[in-house]
Amino acid sequence: MGTIKHPIVIAIDGTSASGKSTNSKLVAAELGYIYVDTGAMYRTLAWYCLQQRIDVNDAKAVAAACRKWKTKLVCVENKVRLLVDNYFPEKEIRTPETAAAVAHVAAVPKVRDWMKKTQRDCIQFGNLVMEGRDIGTNVFPETDFKFYLDAKLDERSRRRAADGVQENLAARDQRDSQRASAPLMIALGARVINNSEMTAAETSGLLLADIRARLPKP
Ligand code: C5P
Repeated sequence: MGTIKHPIVIAIDGTSASGKSTNSKLVAAELGYIYVDTGAMYRTLAWYCLQQRIDVNDAKAVAAACRKWKTKLVCVENKVRLLVDNYFPEKEIRTPETAAAVAHVAAVPKVRDWMKKTQRDCIQFGNLVMEGRDIGTNVFPETDFKFYLDAKLDERSRRRAADGVQENLAARDQRDSQRASAPLMIALGARVINNSEMTAAETSGLLLADIRARLPKP
């Protein structure tokens, strides 16, 4: 009998604007893994609800939308995309309106069930670097590779502003941390990296060194 090779999942969770996307992309590119932005999936649902004039505070209506929407996972240039009606809303999900709505849809338990299943389905594409809020605690709790990124609030706000986005990050973090269903928290066994004083090259360097030291030897 041959050995079954399970895809490897690197889980990178953390607060908003803590450098998850930048560093997850760097790590994925360096290892040749597939990058998955789970926040983009929640944002896509929030955007879809706004499009359909669904009240994001109406949990039942949001759950019904999530049950019915027509989506597809595809992998393009080593990055997973969630398509809705065969469309990839790349820019639309980064607006202030979507940012303000997303933590509301993300608090709906039925939405989280759907997202977990869809995110686990991403292993069809191969080894993953997956970033989010509950990857190490809820989506892939079985992985040995868990990280939690954080930085001081003023530094995180500064980074978002440098990207041209003004947003109340503290409010979103509070909503993400206090929801009943899979809240943002540090997974058991996660390596915590506070990168307030670090560059992306330094942060991703730390992540890669830690991962490479523990990857099964070829
Ligand atoms: O990472 P990003 O800022 O794009 O995430 C947007 C929002 O999606 C988060 O604030 C959170 O409400 C939700 N989210 C989540 N669980 C994840 C990823 C994102 O609840 N795994």
